[in-house]
Amino acid sequence: MNFLEEKILADGTIKEGNILKVDNFLNHQIDVDIIRQIALEFKLRFKGQEVTKILTIEASGIAIAVILAELYDVPVVFAKKGETANSTDDKYMSQAYSFTHKKMNSVFVSKPYMLAGDKVLIVDDFLADGQAMGALIDIVHQAGASVVGLGVAIEKGVQKGGRILRAQGYRVESIAVIDEMDYETGIIKFRE
Ligand code: 5GP
Repeated sequence: MNFLEEKILADGTIKEGNILKVDNFLNHQIDVDIIRQIALEFKLRFKGQEVTKILTIEASGIAIAVILAELYDVPVVFAKKGETANSTDDKYMSQAYSFTHKKMNSVFVSKPYMLAGDKVLIVDDFLADGQAMGALIDIVHQAGASVVGLGVAIEKGVQKGGRILRAQGYRVESIAVIDEMDYETGIIKFRE
């Protein structure tokens, strides 16, 4: 088991509706040592790739993205969420259905922060159905930039996001992939 799988088993709790709560190290309180290990692991896995920008989505991806951006010495941009679609004159806008909040979010990045030619490493805390990643990829392409890869801390392997994104040809690097999670027994099984 790797460091993140061990941390999930020690501190994660399963909620009804296939939700893993990791508030005490990732989603509310932040364990900087774990975040640093996640960022270092992404740097290792994407070794040799040119990266000019790290992109994530507010809020929980930001901590990982900041530490990773420091390792690459590049800017980090976080997409913002809003419920209503505003003018797209000055921003790249996309849509993502929130699995945890059960609502559609507009997701946007202001145009000056994503440039044609940028080589973008996208990171997030969780990958479930791939809605958030899909919106971020859409924004990168609208800007004429390219996606280097997708770094995910925790992938929920029973949901379709990872399968779809890999089938689309994206390199998805997930540090912990959960293949089974049982609310009744509390048992969590990781992909080998
Ligand atoms: P997706 O867009 O891939 O369906 O879901 C990913 C997003 O939903 C992540 O940005 C994350 O914030 C949230 N999310 C999805 N599943 C979980 C979960 O089981 N636990 C937590 N804490 N967040 C989740």
